[in-house]
Amino acid sequence: MDTKAFKRALQHSENYHRRGFGHKEEVATQLHSEYQSGLIQKIRDNNYTLTRGDVTIRLAEAFGFCWGVERAVAMAYETRKHFPSEKIWITNEIIHNPSVNQRLREMQVGFISMEAGQKDFSVVGSGDVVILPAFGASVQEMQLLSDKGCKIVDTTCPWVSKVWNTVEKHKKVDCTSIIHGKYKHEETVATSSFAGKYLIVLNLQEAEYVADYILHGGSKEEFLTKFSKACSEGFNPDTDLEKVGIANQTTMLKGETEQIGKLFERTMMKKYSPTELNQHFQSFNTICDATQERQDAMLELVEEKLDFMVVIGGFNSSNTAHLQEISEERKIPSYHVDSVERILSENSIEHRHLNGNIEISEKWLPDGNIIVGITSGASTPDKVVEDVINKIFELKQAAAVV
Ligand code: SF4
Repeated sequence: MDTKAFKRALQHSENYHRRGFGHKEEVATQLHSEYQSGLIQKIRDNNYTLTRGDVTIRLAEAFGFCWGVERAVAMAYETRKHFPSEKIWITNEIIHNPSVNQRLREMQVGFISMEAGQKDFSVVGSGDVVILPAFGASVQEMQLLSDKGCKIVDTTCPWVSKVWNTVEKHKKVDCTSIIHGKYKHEETVATSSFAGKYLIVLNLQEAEYVADYILHGGSKEEFLTKFSKACSEGFNPDTDLEKVGIANQTTMLKGETEQIGKLFERTMMKKYSPTELNQHFQSFNTICDATQERQDAMLELVEEKLDFMVVIGGFNSSNTAHLQEISEERKIPSYHVDSVERILSENSIEHRHLNGNIEISEKWLPDGNIIVGITSGASTPDKVVEDVINKIFELKQAAAVV
């Protein structure tokens, strides 16, 4: 499929919307009352610090809702206002946050369910409204919805669209896109649908394996088994790695994406000589500012003396998991929770480990004076962060009284 031509035609269709519907102010008031927090504003104004009793909270200087997420949620709210009686669907969670998704359910926005690993679009009828989430949708999904005669509200973040444009550029010059991301993540699924030839690498280790194959060859069978779910159909590592370009899932660790870019630049220079680099390597900066700012703020925060960290965000949120990774690397006790309900008592907390397991830890709240680092992922409303902070204050106060 000519994905570029399809996208252009879709954008000119009267059934396609990506700019909201003129209810911005009304929706802004509603969003403010549902998701903002007076306490968090107070902490921001107080140099990101608040002490109550024996608890000092240190907030990261950049955290929580990014503008791409705010924009997507606002567009979803506007869509409900604009189409009060139509059936509205969303192809996936609008963002990776349970409270926001629950709120949309209450507004009668239906989520497309998965049947045996496939989305079941049979429920969607002609004339229904379908919202595409902040991390986008694959070109095949867009085509299916367009063919069904749906009204499409596209909230894809412009940063994600920028990555799609990058892989289109790679395709134009017959260059394989090396995508730093998780092959199952919706954003990467969407990005790869716009790419020509592609290979998805999860981390620097996988990238090094590929770079080594470029320079020294190896077992093609082993290569294809290793990347069986992470490459384009018919991918041939012997011929499809002569020209590569870098793209990324916008929420990956910024430093790692940069390292992967540099690794392939060096590899191609070594293989083809510096003068021929431009014919074999393409790189565009597609790291999202918001992800970068949150990671940088976290890197600063973990330099401080903290008793523990609480990282707040959806359990399937990639950018939140990367924030958690930063504190675990520094050996700071760190708990990734998605809502205040995970704090079960002063003695136990349910949280997600980096390996994906959800576990209960005991004795997580130390006695005496404590300094608690707090951050949250790009899809977490301030209100959720406030609830967690208040719970910590409450538990510590109760413990002090006993
Ligand atoms: S994290 Fe970046 S790419 Fe993702 S929605 Fe936010 S601004 Fe957009």
